[in-house]
Amino acid sequence: MMKNKFLELAAPGVQQLQPYLPGKPIDELERELGINNSIKLASNENPLGPSLKALEAAKSVIGDVNLYPDGAGFKLSEALAEKHSTNIDSITLGNGSNDVLELIARAFLTNEHSAVFSQYAFAVYPIVTQAIGAKANVANAYPADHPTMPYGHDLDSIYNAIDDLTRIVFIANPNNPTGTWLDINVLIDFLNKVPETIIVVLDEAYYEYMPDELKPDSNGLLKQFDNLILTRTFSKMYGLAGLRIGYSVSHPDVADIINRVRQPFNANLIAQEAALASLSDEQHVANSIASNTLGLKQLANGFTQLGLTNIPSIGNFITVDVKQNAMPIYDALLHEGVIVRPVANYQLPNHLRITVGTESQNERALGALEKVLKG
Ligand SMILES: *Cc1c(COP(=O)(O)O)cnc(C)c1O
Repeated sequence: MMKNKFLELAAPGVQQLQPYLPGKPIDELERELGINNSIKLASNENPLGPSLKALEAAKSVIGDVNLYPDGAGFKLSEALAEKHSTNIDSITLGNGSNDVLELIARAFLTNEHSAVFSQYAFAVYPIVTQAIGAKANVANAYPADHPTMPYGHDLDSIYNAIDDLTRIVFIANPNNPTGTWLDINVLIDFLNKVPETIIVVLDEAYYEYMPDELKPDSNGLLKQFDNLILTRTFSKMYGLAGLRIGYSVSHPDVADIINRVRQPFNANLIAQEAALASLSDEQHVANSIASNTLGLKQLANGFTQLGLTNIPSIGNFITVDVKQNAMPIYDALLHEGVIVRPVANYQLPNHLRITVGTESQNERALGALEKVLKG
């Protein structure tokens, strides 16, 4: 690539930054290859779509978009406070939870501090850390041959990566792109050990997909640990990725700090209304869980039949080892009209991350994979 003539003007952290690579949009693929009927299983979107209640709510306010949204997001924040058994001053809304992750980094990190996260952790943590010029202390994950949680977050190694400069620890449970999760008691021991002067961000983007027995009592943990921040999103289970809405729950003093760097209208009008309505659609959540549970099994069984193994996952995606450089496989799948996600940028060059689709989408993905692997 040609050298950027403004590179030297950029902030030092930004000069080194590799931008986030999103999943390839369907339109782009079809434009490039001149094909149609492709499917996207690349960004962990809900294949069932959004709740119909959310769509109704979005439509009902579309005529009001000449007005700024409620900058405090009162109605949505109030509902979220109730959902998390806390007060409204604990909630911070974001333009997606990525926005909140960035706000947290900007509020607590400087170029004289460090952030800690695991190898294979969600790509946004290194990006927001690097953009500020803070140091990234990357903890080793469990090895590939770990008996129960290959590639998973190792909280001992995360704890050991904390140094005198550390201000933030980012932990995703379940993690993306691995789908791995944390043992509840190990998480509690970890939170007990970490000093209160270090902010622990527990990213629960896939919380709703977790089997109940694996869900930590996150609201209870918040009451116990004032330095804990939970982040959640409406992009995954709630099917509102395109509207960009997420949030954090924290001690009010932590929320106060995050709010100082937040733009006043970062959560838009339509997103606020749709998110609020989707909270009341328990049937949509139940349907999404049921579909995902079947889909995870379908994909894992399909991989086994192809002689492949996957990382154990409780998210709405599953990451499979294709036992060779995954990039040509990814490209060949694109030509079959199936968009998945290469994860070489996560140091997983032989893996592909596949979002759980509908039954027929999963079947199509498995069929395409079989065809491509046979070459
Ligand atoms: C998808 C995802 C998010 C959130 O994305 P937003 O659309 O910005 O809410 C956050 N964390 C993880 C681990 C994710 O996979």
